[in-house]
Amino acid sequence: MKKIEKFIYGFEKRGLYPDFHTITDNVNEPEVTVDGKKYLMFCSNNYLAMSQNEAVKKAGIAAIEKYGVGPGGSRVISGNIDIIEKLEAELADLTGTEDCLTFPTGYMANVGVIRAMMDALVYNYPHKSEDSVIFSDEYNHGSIVDGCKLSKATKVIFNHDDLTDLEQKLKENRLPNKLIITEGVFSLDGEIIKILDYIELAKKYKAKLMVDDAHGIGVLGEHGGGVADLFDCGDQIDIVMGCMDKAFGGTGGYLCGNKVLIKYLRIACRSSILSSAIPAMMAGAMVESAKQIRQGQELRKTLFDNARYLKNTLSGLGFKMLGRDEIPSLALYVGKEDKGIKFAKILWEEKVFCPIIRWPAVPAGQTRFRIIVMTNHTKAHLDRFAEACKKAGKTLGMIQ
Ligand code: PMP
Repeated sequence: MKKIEKFIYGFEKRGLYPDFHTITDNVNEPEVTVDGKKYLMFCSNNYLAMSQNEAVKKAGIAAIEKYGVGPGGSRVISGNIDIIEKLEAELADLTGTEDCLTFPTGYMANVGVIRAMMDALVYNYPHKSEDSVIFSDEYNHGSIVDGCKLSKATKVIFNHDDLTDLEQKLKENRLPNKLIITEGVFSLDGEIIKILDYIELAKKYKAKLMVDDAHGIGVLGEHGGGVADLFDCGDQIDIVMGCMDKAFGGTGGYLCGNKVLIKYLRIACRSSILSSAIPAMMAGAMVESAKQIRQGQELRKTLFDNARYLKNTLSGLGFKMLGRDEIPSLALYVGKEDKGIKFAKILWEEKVFCPIIRWPAVPAGQTRFRIIVMTNHTKAHLDRFAEACKKAGKTLGMIQ
């Protein structure tokens, strides 16, 4: 215990221990309540305000009334619940795939699927770890990193979104069972992946392709089906993974793909067979979220208008904004960690809730703010946020 205490003390002394603020009211709203005071919220992933959407809440309450609060166990033992199957059909449809398997969290989906695709389930069947190789983008989410660690396959990290490097590595690692993993949207870098190029490369080298579209689902595409919808290619991606804690406003993860693959994953993902299902109450709410998302063109337009307005305002103030693409999570570059900590402190004093993103979420030394814009932020909220950044930036000599 002494060693742990010493470690915590060192962290706190250097100002590195994060503040776990307790929100009492208006959770996920543009202004949340902490210690009885209102703070502008710019770090909730509730892009489309589904978390507080009346129809979504009603659907969740109706599902509680009908199904109770818990799933009763793992599906392979306690059985499926019809509302979960309904959600899976909705998600498959939204992403343009054939079938879907849901999980209580996205983390569980990622740690389950990679091992299932790479290692043997029984008697070296259907895959042998020695025959398997994973190609993972260096900036992939930690849940993908953890999933890779659980597998005995060879791991190859390619330079972030660098197709030339990926192709070179595909040439060098010719094992028969190959899996390329990338994200659809890199929210910390302001990027949408050119997924069609990855599909082409995967075909050329007979590799499977998995896309984690946690930040794309609900936000991108005519019907909010994420990158698969935006580029109309769901049927060409082997595994479309996603999360329901962001644009869907709830919690949960999913894997979408063809019928055979999902049938296999139902028995092969240890995080599914050894763990409880997504609660039916959440599934009920998420079915309604999916419906709203499908019809959410106006919501997405407001979301992107808000993001554009704020990005332009912050760039106009002289801040370095990262990212080549237009997405509703903006990345304001800070650089050194201590500067980021001071910046965040000033934002907090200005009643703004937007902590810095540090290692291990980003490479060491690449501290930044991920500013999440929501559809129900008003222009007044966006202006107040920019004012607070201006004050912090001027105090720290980042802008004039
Ligand atoms: N993948 C990505 C890209 C994420 O941002 C996250 C975090 N939400 C996850 C996976 C894990 O999802 P969850 O929070 O549902 O466990």
